[in-house]
Amino acid sequence: MKGILTLLKPVRAMAVKGNGVDDDAIDGAVQRAADMVANASYLIAFTGAGISADSGMPTFRGSGGLWGSYDQRHLELDFFLRSPELAWKTIREIFYTFTLSVEPNNAHRVLARWEQEGRLRLVVTQNIDGLHHRAGSRAVAEFHGSCDSLVCTRCGNRTPATAGLVALSPPRCACGGVYKPGFIFFGEGIPPEAYEASFQAAGKADLCLVIGSTGSVYPAASIPRLVKSRGGRIIEVNPEPSEFTNEISDVFVPLGAAEALHRIDAALRDNDQHSAPEANS
Ligand SMILES: [Zn+2]
Repeated sequence: MKGILTLLKPVRAMAVKGNGVDDDAIDGAVQRAADMVANASYLIAFTGAGISADSGMPTFRGSGGLWGSYDQRHLELDFFLRSPELAWKTIREIFYTFTLSVEPNNAHRVLARWEQEGRLRLVVTQNIDGLHHRAGSRAVAEFHGSCDSLVCTRCGNRTPATAGLVALSPPRCACGGVYKPGFIFFGEGIPPEAYEASFQAAGKADLCLVIGSTGSVYPAASIPRLVKSRGGRIIEVNPEPSEFTNEISDVFVPLGAAEALHRIDAALRDNDQHSAPEANS
């Protein structure tokens, strides 16, 4: 139903023309995005599964999604607490054996560099793969938690998810409680710190760069919408139009995350070079 509604709306994605893609229009969108990033006074990024897809991370839903091969119940808290060994077998395969073998891509790295350069204030991510941290980002709000840490289900102790701990069946805290991964399970609440940091930053942001999120998972998807409602602007990077495209996006860049960020970053550097002040004589 969602899909049909999307089709009926006029696609404002200026860069998409028929079945093909207009290269000039993409160049134009990339240049506008670079100008907006250059002129932003408070830029945040909002990232979803699409940014990690370019690292080879499989998606969970849809055809070929991981939930076709695994039992989704294993990530429900009740099931986990009843059968931690069985749940951990699934969790280990999906989130540790595989995720740890995946590397950050150019999109993660560009965001990390923008943070170091003072261009980017915060990455709000829906991803639990820890790739923003591994790319060097420090200001990251992991809205759904992260597989980088484990949390004791008895005493609440939090510890790094080392290979040694994760190999145990199940991993246990010194108190005897079972460790669960540091990401939220189905039905669990958003980690309060990430929630507060995200909405606080969204309240200040004059520009939000949405990357690889379809805008359908709440409350995360309300973060770019908050930026927009407060007068900020939205750049969207997604290979296909999403829930955001016609609703809030000011610029839509119809490319994969790694290519889009590489091109926006290159345009930004080009702009910097042309506008660099003359050296003191
Ligand atoms: Zn404990």
